[in-house]
Amino acid sequence: MITSPSIGPAYLRRERVVQPWRVCLVIYTLLIIITTHWPGSPPEAVEPRHYFPDKLIHFLAFGGFVLLLWSSGWSRTWWAASLIGVAFVLVDEWTQSLFASNRHASGEDMAAGMLGVLTASGWMTALATPETHGFGSRSRRLSFAFETFLEQPSNILRLLVVASIPLLIVAVLIYVIAWNLFHASMGNLALTLGLLASLLAMNFFLRHRMRSVLNAIEERKPCFACGESMKSQTSDEYGWHQCTACGEEAHRSQWMPITLPRVSLRMIMTVDGPSGIACLMLYVLLGLVFGPYALLVSGQSGLAGAILFTSLGLLAAMLWSWRSQRLGSWFQSMGVRCAQCGEDLTGITADRGMGHCPQCDTDFARFQRQQDDEKGIANNAHTPSNA
Ligand SMILES: [Zn+2]
Ligand SMILES: [Zn+2]
Repeated sequence: MITSPSIGPAYLRRERVVQPWRVCLVIYTLLIIITTHWPGSPPEAVEPRHYFPDKLIHFLAFGGFVLLLWSSGWSRTWWAASLIGVAFVLVDEWTQSLFASNRHASGEDMAAGMLGVLTASGWMTALATPETHGFGSRSRRLSFAFETFLEQPSNILRLLVVASIPLLIVAVLIYVIAWNLFHASMGNLALTLGLLASLLAMNFFLRHRMRSVLNAIEERKPCFACGESMKSQTSDEYGWHQCTACGEEAHRSQWMPITLPRVSLRMIMTVDGPSGIACLMLYVLLGLVFGPYALLVSGQSGLAGAILFTSLGLLAAMLWSWRSQRLGSWFQSMGVRCAQCGEDLTGITADRGMGHCPQCDTDFARFQRQQDDEKGIANNAHTPSNA
């Protein structure tokens, strides 16, 4: 067995799970280059009546490129992926003016592409935020399941079909209906509703298909770093295992769906106090109302859509990281209060790091050793300011 830490089993697993992303990235990049350099139609004598939502497509194409690059592991830091994304936007526009007939570099296309990169950066920083041990292993359960699911090429194809068919049907349908009813070219709206349909379909499909993968994780108890089963190992008295293949620590609650407390939107928005809410309101006013409106009335409807997508995307990324922050601090005090009914659990004994609430029978995990190690953090989490 190879014992070097650089090419150990955890490294080999990482290399395996990024393979599908690398294949997707290469195909996707080629598609972007081909479609953006395809000869454009010659300028029409009359004003065109159908407007293609090309600014929004630039936004999505380059934002998607950066996210794929980051997932592929070829660029491990979010800022490097963003810089490569910005360079790609610039070079792509420049070579269009050189090589493609009836196409020229457009400042608006470039701006839309940059906004896509910016939105992707927001999401990469939100997703890359280091997580506390308990919360980290819980979200790693879902990402481990997703990686296992995508290791089969047929599942990637299924996911692509589920994502693209509703997108095409809804977008074309909305466009044709709007054209016939209002005689207006509503490409931006049609594409937005198509994307929403696509997201809903993917969510439904993944929820359904991941159930068996999550059950298999509960049964097989894999190490989330190298994938080796830890089923035959017994944990210590606090529920901790150490992987014999790669040395990664695992708590025995990480394979099970531990109940999380409900984090309301109000709790998420008050994470930074009154000044945070004031900043959020200002952001919503500028980014979601004033910015798009100002561009719309000045005739830049394409860019108005891209700005709206950017503001919404960054807002969602912010809310996501605030929610992770809330759940992270809650996880530090897990095993102290019941997630379901709020019952005080301090007197309840846990069997090897896990137990049940006497009031409502909800499972809880207690990262005893973790809390002893990080006494300071654990004590902070108990103060009422985090309640
Ligand atoms: Zn391992
Ligand atoms: Zn309870």
